[in-house]
Amino acid sequence: MVPMKTQWWEKPLRMLRRDYVGDFTPFLNADMEQLARETRKIWKANCEWIMATPGCAPGTAHLTLFNSEKFEKMPGIGSRDIIREYLPYARKYNINIIAYINMHWYSYEFAKKHPDWEQLLEDGTPYGQKHPLYGNGTTFCVNSEWRNWAFELIQEVLKTGVDGCFLDGPVIYPGACYCQSCKEKFREFSGSTRMPKFLDWNDPLWKKFAEFRANSWADFMNDAMKAARQINNQAVLFLNGGSFSSSNILLAYDTGRMEKVQSITGAEDFFHCTDYYRSPFTSLNLSRFLSAGKNPSVVFTHHTLSTWHYVPLPEAELSTALAQSTAGGSNTWFAIFYPAIEKTKKYAIEGLKKTGNFIERVEKFICGSESAAETGVLISNKTLYYYISCLKGLSYDVGSGKEQGLIIDTGTQYSFDINKQREKSIDIVNNENHGCLDLCNFAHIPVRVFWDEYINAENLRKIKCLILPNSACLSEKQIGEIMNFVHSGGVLMADFESGMYDEYGNRVERKFWLEFLGIQEIYGAFKPSRIEDYIILTKKLGDIDDGILIPRPLNALAIKSTENAEVIANYLNPINMAYAQPKGISNYPAIMIVKRGSGRVIYISSPIFESFNRFHIDWHKNIIQLLIRKTVKTGLQIETDAPGSLAIEIRKKDNDLLVHLVNVTSDMKRPMGCIIPVYNVQISLKAGLKKAISLSSGKKLNVRKNKHRLEFCVPEIREYEIILLTD
Ligand SMILES: [Zn+2]
Repeated sequence: MVPMKTQWWEKPLRMLRRDYVGDFTPFLNADMEQLARETRKIWKANCEWIMATPGCAPGTAHLTLFNSEKFEKMPGIGSRDIIREYLPYARKYNINIIAYINMHWYSYEFAKKHPDWEQLLEDGTPYGQKHPLYGNGTTFCVNSEWRNWAFELIQEVLKTGVDGCFLDGPVIYPGACYCQSCKEKFREFSGSTRMPKFLDWNDPLWKKFAEFRANSWADFMNDAMKAARQINNQAVLFLNGGSFSSSNILLAYDTGRMEKVQSITGAEDFFHCTDYYRSPFTSLNLSRFLSAGKNPSVVFTHHTLSTWHYVPLPEAELSTALAQSTAGGSNTWFAIFYPAIEKTKKYAIEGLKKTGNFIERVEKFICGSESAAETGVLISNKTLYYYISCLKGLSYDVGSGKEQGLIIDTGTQYSFDINKQREKSIDIVNNENHGCLDLCNFAHIPVRVFWDEYINAENLRKIKCLILPNSACLSEKQIGEIMNFVHSGGVLMADFESGMYDEYGNRVERKFWLEFLGIQEIYGAFKPSRIEDYIILTKKLGDIDDGILIPRPLNALAIKSTENAEVIANYLNPINMAYAQPKGISNYPAIMIVKRGSGRVIYISSPIFESFNRFHIDWHKNIIQLLIRKTVKTGLQIETDAPGSLAIEIRKKDNDLLVHLVNVTSDMKRPMGCIIPVYNVQISLKAGLKKAISLSSGKKLNVRKNKHRLEFCVPEIREYEIILLTD
């Protein structure tokens, strides 16, 4: 068999975008050869984005920055064609060019000429009238005739000779779209002449509409790709596809559905200065999520200080964003802003020097590598879309301080508002997803992400442990695959309401599944508590003695376990009052382990990762780590004395392993002011290999074989290091 040629976009990409914010004079006046040279030599990029249409006020997406007889040119550009003029220099420096096409921000004036194109809200108001885009402008519908205009624009852009297009939009906005085209297409899709109200969870048609919206977008991309390939059968087409958030349903994002109709899967992790805690590993987590599909992936990083676009991102932040994107298996991308960059260039370059140069240097090692993590985490988009817990007690207000009974059952004392319940439910899921990935980072448990569609035997064979962070909405097929995985020796760690709903969020009676998890009966939810409530270990776990109290996660289920379950921890009887004496151990198990076939199920009746994301308590982290060590027959994939601020990712290439070490030990704030090196880090990992080489220094490290493990010490880790393990 002839091996398939690796396409340019399947090799490591380092993307750069120069942003001129509506004034392209600096670009038109620049020495373009120098710009291309700098792209390669200074910014270390091998792929550059050039604006085909500007994305600026007052909605200029219908104007072009290149010559086309079919489209209107941006005023002030004259006969200049920024794409065709720059391309020869890009080619000279071996830079692939992606054209940026704004597909979501149009002026009211342009929209007036095409009254059927705008996205409409339920009451028929154009979206942009009610919610002016960026203060001024409107947006069009993927199901309207605008799509043909958009496809023609893509074709005109590709005729310039660029290698592909990034589509910034279309965006299907919250509350849209109720235009005539959508009404007709929805009737075909659902058989209903009626359209549901937006986010009306009481109307079953709403979920159909949510599916319709996601399908509409994928259908648009599918046709866009066909149009693009008519001009260039190697054309790359992709968009900003969103990450893993419950807001996906509002914007019709569905990474799994979109990957089939785009060439690259990308999403933003722009740094934002916030007044709340921000995980130091957001780029790593997003990178792993994006690289879980079949496409190459990219994390978009703004090289700007949050919303101050003319100040470069501090060195430590850019360094780690690029390192984390790479370690998680994705490509890098950053944007720099003109004209400010002319003055601030040296600061911007500083941010790139450390990891950016290193990533370029180790390109051949990164190329074609894949995750070798033994632990999988399901990030379920179906759960993000549709989960609304049936547990009425979740909506209980934590702040009231009122003493209630032991648990909140499904009785009548609490009014049930479905919107409030959705809010509480997705709060749990969002925190669970992020908390699970972060807990594993801090615990040095390398993980790979699974999307719903990739829960199958072939993929599950690659891991030893699967974590379901309250993956509530699972299909029968997924449940079957997961049970088979455990029966044939895998370890499942599931918490809270995992698998208790179908993939559309309907509560299902899955007695066999509950029994499989070790649950005989569910009584209801405990009152949410963040004060003086505890889990007590009833058995020694690793080096934690029995009898130890651990903060109870915010939410918890009261259940009865099956007789064959080994209970590790119970809840104490609720106190929920400061400085009060404990009231003894309840009968409700918090953590248990059951043997199923050749495998094990760890069931935790609290969404423990939610609490880790909220409170960052090491007891929770340590318990998870110890449970995996106890149940996975070959132990933890990594044992190390490193602090939690060193993320360890394992990837493999052919027979070699690459241990990515991303250090975020810092001055304890974000934006980080500096990264503090860590020294003499001991690492032991499962590997049948003999040599360890530091790719930053090129030096061989001393190794020790210990049964099936390889042990070595890394003398110094600054921002980013990769250790190559080889024969
Ligand atoms: Zn529409």
